Amino acid sequence: MPRPNYYAGVPLDRADRLRGDAERLAELLADPGARVVPLWRSQHLIAAEADAVVLRRAELDGLLEVAGETIFLGLRGEVAYLAIDFSHLEEPEIGPLTAGLGSFKDLRAVGPIMNREDSALLAYARGLAHWHGRHGFCGVCGAATLSEKGGHQRRCSNADCHALHFPRTDPAVIMLVHDGGERCLLGRQPLWPPGMHSTLAGFVEPGESLEEAVAREIWEEVGLRLPVEEVAYHSSQPWPFPSSIMLGFYARADHGPLDLGPDELESAQWYTRDELRNSPEDETFKLPRRDSIARRLIEDWLEEE
Ligand SMILES: [Zn+2]
Repeated sequence: MPRPNYYAGVPLDRADRLRGDAERLAELLADPGARVVPLWRSQHLIAAEADAVVLRRAELDGLLEVAGETIFLGLRGEVAYLAIDFSHLEEPEIGPLTAGLGSFKDLRAVGPIMNREDSALLAYARGLAHWHGRHGFCGVCGAATLSEKGGHQRRCSNADCHALHFPRTDPAVIMLVHDGGERCLLGRQPLWPPGMHSTLAGFVEPGESLEEAVAREIWEEVGLRLPVEEVAYHSSQPWPFPSSIMLGFYARADHGPLDLGPDELESAQWYTRDELRNSPEDETFKLPRRDSIARRLIEDWLEEE
């Protein structure tokens, strides 16, 4: 088993068995000692440089009356962990949450330097809160939906429909293309931070296997054909920014000229291990962010030699 990637390893028992036990769940959620991950517009409460603020339910005081969606995340020992979304409040109204505690920040800004268990917990809470925020209405009939099972499903309120909706995770493949020798392929998208180069990636489409998605994306992005037999799984990473799971692969392709597809990459080229090891890590060339599986795929390949 490879070591886990960033944002994997939520330190909770997700306790699926309790989600359907309304009475027990209500008790756990009402416990003043329950821990709460507060969320506001997809951001988390962060203290100091990168410390996740997880409150006791009792500390929320007057804010419980104005709490938005409440989600049961799971148990740590006997203690329930919840996420509560305050996104509907305007900035002055969240003052009591931030006063003396920290400020709301995007996890992506602090994740790479945060305690790994905390960042996994926050990412999990963020992914679920995002899903609730965008599934208030039924995709079948348009009626309002209501949260059930501790926030792990929503049901359409229209008695003639009653469709169930479940949290979404969208699979994306991400792959380090190498030539079986000393070279691998990195590309660059125009919107990335200056100098950043990374692996190829793309969403899995309906009706294709993961290996086919890898091969198709490589063809579309850089014009290399490779058989699906050359695609090998590496590891995966939850990436709820907002709702993906990244499925990491290595893909061996013949070292050949590249033909960049329209609307994809602004540049792509083959790099040797030595070139990557000597990356200046500045605005002329840098590797992807430390918390990304792209970085992990590159680092593991560099060590493979
Ligand atoms: Zn419906």
